Amino acid sequence: MNPQVPQLIASDVCLNCPVCCRFPEKQSPLSPFFFPEERAEIEHLQLPSNFFRDSSSETKAALTTCQHGYQCSFFHHADHTCQIYHARPLDCSIYPVVVMWNPNQTGILIGLDTKCPEIQSEKESTRIPAYLDWIQNYLEQPLKSQLIASHLSFVAPFQEEVILTRPLSIQKGN
Ligand code: SF4
Ligand code: SF4
Repeated sequence: MNPQVPQLIASDVCLNCPVCCRFPEKQSPLSPFFFPEERAEIEHLQLPSNFFRDSSSETKAALTTCQHGYQCSFFHHADHTCQIYHARPLDCSIYPVVVMWNPNQTGILIGLDTKCPEIQSEKESTRIPAYLDWIQNYLEQPLKSQLIASHLSFVAPFQEEVILTRPLSIQKGN
């Protein structure tokens, strides 16, 4: 469903990172969201149904306990890989870019999540504005923005740790 989104952080860095795919709470609102088409694609892989948090078509990945709290059920703790890497959802493939509500929940923002340790060293990089432009243009394409507008559970809660935020022209009820 998603074309290959260019990655901001090199995969060899991510494979040695202790952050992504792990969460502090079992019902974390930041766990990955799957649009119905994304979930259907995973279900074709015939993985056990308990990889998802509920039985509805639009859903989040179930989280399982791990030594750091909870991890996405698609995460392989031993080698830090994603079992569904080539079919992982948009939510994961754009990270450390985050799509979230503004503080008043009146509009949608994108920005960079400083929970990613690489962002501290990357945030002044000249490639950051171009990368955010690419993601913004991609998400604002008519089909993608309509998809997001009709599945607003994709939009994460406001997070103060997200920096370099900019508005995304997707309206509630588009
Ligand atoms: S937190 Fe950043 S560096 Fe770590 S795995 Fe995620 S994107 Fe990669
Ligand atoms: S779907 Fe894959 S990339 Fe996304 S949180 Fe789960 S393990 Fe990580």
